[in-house]
Amino acid sequence: MDILTVRNLSKSFFLRTGFGRRDEFFAVQNVSFSLEQGACLGLVGESGCGKSTLARMLVGLLPATDGEILFKGRPVSENFHNPKALQMVFQDPFSSLNPRLCIGKSIGEPYKINNSGCGEAAVREKVREILQEVGLEKEYYSRYPHEFSGGQRQRIAIARAIITKPELLVCDEPVSALDASHQAQVLNLLLDLKEKYRLSYLFISHNLQVVSFMCDAVLVMYAGEIVEYAAKEDLFANPLHPYTKALTASAPSVGKKTENAVLQGEAPGLMHRKQGCSFAGRCAYAQERCRREKPLLRSIGENGHKAACHLHSAR
Ligand code: SF4
Repeated sequence: MDILTVRNLSKSFFLRTGFGRRDEFFAVQNVSFSLEQGACLGLVGESGCGKSTLARMLVGLLPATDGEILFKGRPVSENFHNPKALQMVFQDPFSSLNPRLCIGKSIGEPYKINNSGCGEAAVREKVREILQEVGLEKEYYSRYPHEFSGGQRQRIAIARAIITKPELLVCDEPVSALDASHQAQVLNLLLDLKEKYRLSYLFISHNLQVVSFMCDAVLVMYAGEIVEYAAKEDLFANPLHPYTKALTASAPSVGKKTENAVLQGEAPGLMHRKQGCSFAGRCAYAQERCRREKPLLRSIGENGHKAACHLHSAR
């Protein structure tokens, strides 16, 4: 069963481009995918490709311009008053915690909102329990965010996200601000919690080693569009899209060396909706057709492997 279904989701912004003109730029374009209950789905791509915009739409922090998001088959907007359903873990735990609130109060707030009849003592007890769950001392309740290391702060942010027992966690680069040893600890904690609470994850990262460690399947995003989807093993053993080939070749511990795989040119920012393949300007295999005709994301080969590239559309 799919816990999350995203259909044709887009997000655009209007920006002034001079002489009184306002042009429409797309951060996310026509994205569709589904996430199976209990699975961890990775979302990878360069900075600025639209990953975080997509995450913010999923949890209701940004309205979509177009498309729909279904949580267990129902529009996700119906879940916005139910913080139990969906929670988010942000990249920077320091800015996601209120520096003037002790961590016990920060963690307890969503629990209090969600359990209105609950007294202070019960909330405090629940927070202490969850602190231990994420590997922190229950005596830390009264301390403030600045008294903790980066890894501990991310544990606090995770504690706040799971205290309401959500079913789906959207993790936006949850370990990219941490050093290697803390990264491993936080990733192992997320895997333990996934097992214990039967959580599903949408796991956003630019680090392919981290994605390879955490995820069952991977979406590759470029310029706001999904350009490849595959089970983790298929994606790293046999990347099909030239962009994915370049990404995996630059992380040789997870991918294989590929000719013409070096990424050239600038990473994309907000894009005009335009003709042809959005990767054509950086692609070593681009042909005339690529600049004329947008390649659609379609199934190629077995196991649901999909790619949006004219090199593979003839199969
Ligand atoms: Fe490269 Fe053409 Fe494939 Fe786009 S459609 S990735 S330009 S070969």
